[in-house]
Amino acid sequence: MPLQAARRRLRGALVAPGGRVPSIAIIGAGLSGLCMAMQLERAGHRDYVIYEKAEGLGGTWRDNTYPGAACDVPSHLYSFSFARKRDWTRKFAEQAEILAYAERCADTYGIRSHIRFSAEIATAAYDDDSGRWALTTTGGEAVQADVVVAGCGQLNRPHLPSIDGIDAFEGTAFHSARWDHSYRFDGKAVAVVGNGASAIQFVPWLAERARSLTVYQRSANYIIPKPDRPFRPFERALFTYAPAIERLYRWCIYWRLESRWVLFKRDGAIARWASRRFAAAVRADVVSEELAESAVVPDYQIGCKRILISNDYLACLRRPNVRAETSPIVGITGDAVVTADGRVDKVDAIVFATGFESTRFLAPIEVTGTGGRLLADAWAQGAEAHLGVAVPGFPNLFLLYGPNTNLGHNSILFMVERQVDYVLQCLTTLARRRVTAVEVRPEALAAFRRATDRSAQATAWAGTCTSWYKTASGRITNNWPRPTFAYWAATLRPRPSDFVEHRRRPADRQQSTEPAKTKVAVPAVSD
Ligand SMILES: Cc1cc2nc3c(=O)[nH]c(=O)nc-3n(C[C@H](O)[C@H](O)[C@H](O)COP(=O)(O)OP(=O)(O)OC[C@H]3O[C@@H](n4cnc5c(N)ncnc54)[C@H](O)[C@@H]3O)c2cc1C
Repeated sequence: MPLQAARRRLRGALVAPGGRVPSIAIIGAGLSGLCMAMQLERAGHRDYVIYEKAEGLGGTWRDNTYPGAACDVPSHLYSFSFARKRDWTRKFAEQAEILAYAERCADTYGIRSHIRFSAEIATAAYDDDSGRWALTTTGGEAVQADVVVAGCGQLNRPHLPSIDGIDAFEGTAFHSARWDHSYRFDGKAVAVVGNGASAIQFVPWLAERARSLTVYQRSANYIIPKPDRPFRPFERALFTYAPAIERLYRWCIYWRLESRWVLFKRDGAIARWASRRFAAAVRADVVSEELAESAVVPDYQIGCKRILISNDYLACLRRPNVRAETSPIVGITGDAVVTADGRVDKVDAIVFATGFESTRFLAPIEVTGTGGRLLADAWAQGAEAHLGVAVPGFPNLFLLYGPNTNLGHNSILFMVERQVDYVLQCLTTLARRRVTAVEVRPEALAAFRRATDRSAQATAWAGTCTSWYKTASGRITNNWPRPTFAYWAATLRPRPSDFVEHRRRPADRQQSTEPAKTKVAVPAVSD
């Protein structure tokens, strides 16, 4: 296994006696940041600090506590291959169980003492002379590190639409990722703006409580059944005590999801057939006098937007107290939502399920690279990074779940593990070759960009729909446009010719032989 080989190499390389041990600043204690830390711990490298802006770890699974929040990838695959949880309680774990898994990972690997909570990184600047990164927090604290690993997530900052009068609303309003659990929806008139992956999870819950519920949507989604159920006690016991069976089960999930890649081929025969079949089924079963075809039958090819999974959302739209509104919202008043067709719906509460600032990776951190170049300027035409990980002009900065590494059909954690392995191998180079920094070459990124853009144009995402996968100009900056095993192959080994090595100026070189300063005592690593 390449990961194990990298780890063996690291054990020898990162902690080589007398060698230089790079200090690492990890931004974010979501699953990406935790994965990085766990693998560092496994490699015996403990000179790292995780800066987390919130008061708890878990990222997505800490923030999204709305009713019904759950994974839409089967649980056994939505976990790290090297830190398996074999006793998942159901096929698609709910938010609380995934958050508990993240907490357990942090505890098992002794990571908690490395996390600085309520420490939001505001700036990160590379110093050409020392070859180190200087970071500041929003609280004004200044820290330094040799290496920065950014695990800020693609779906971390809630997006609110710019609607006239949005601030004038006098009722209760919040984003689904900031759910107000103190608010009682019983008997209330409620508006939900958006009908994406989050909305379809909590709308059925709301529909059972609200007096009236209107879902405002731009377009219909492809929604397929969710094969979810609790695991039976004997299944959990089997997975726990027969790890080979759990491994096989996980492997089958991976390949089943991976086979869905055929649906993402733009104008592909299978995709066209699946789109027609879905439309026919919905027309037959769901469309009615009260529920217009435009509300539930997508007018774009399957895969262009995220394919959603739910067993109760479409049925819930047929409830007498629920309405799907396709006319665009043109304004919000003190107590109502106004749509383009002139309708004024009085509501007590508005829940915005309007997604995240997905294409502004790393923002609002001000990142400055070599020669004082701003990352925001480098990314003026859209975020990009070699393999989603490394950016020319920003030595020793590595991104996890960066540009072009999101998926529409498989587990993000598969991708994150690959990136962490890739970063570990780059760190091995630092330690082995005693260089101060590695920086990806612009030519490597250019070649990656060409291949990625070409592949992306052949996917359903390049179709007519709007989605969070692309910038306003239509460039697909978020998704990996090939099967995930192609990403596995691409990240197997960093190609030395893709990188430039930086060496510290002679005056500073003496410092580099100093022993690493901060070593935090942590409990032994458990595999
Ligand atoms: C509702 C929802 C459901 C999802 N379901 C699935 C699913 O079923 N399957 C799947 O594969 N993926 C799913 N995802 C994607 C999910 O985001 C990833 O799977 C994964 O959790 C990403 O982890 P992360 O650590 O990269 O990012 P995040 O979980 O977003 O964590 C980023 C962390 O960085 C911190 N941070 C950000 N900026 C700073 C800063 N400047 N300073 C300090 N800290 C900072 C944040 O507070 C956060 O803790 C879902 C996402 C959402 C929003």
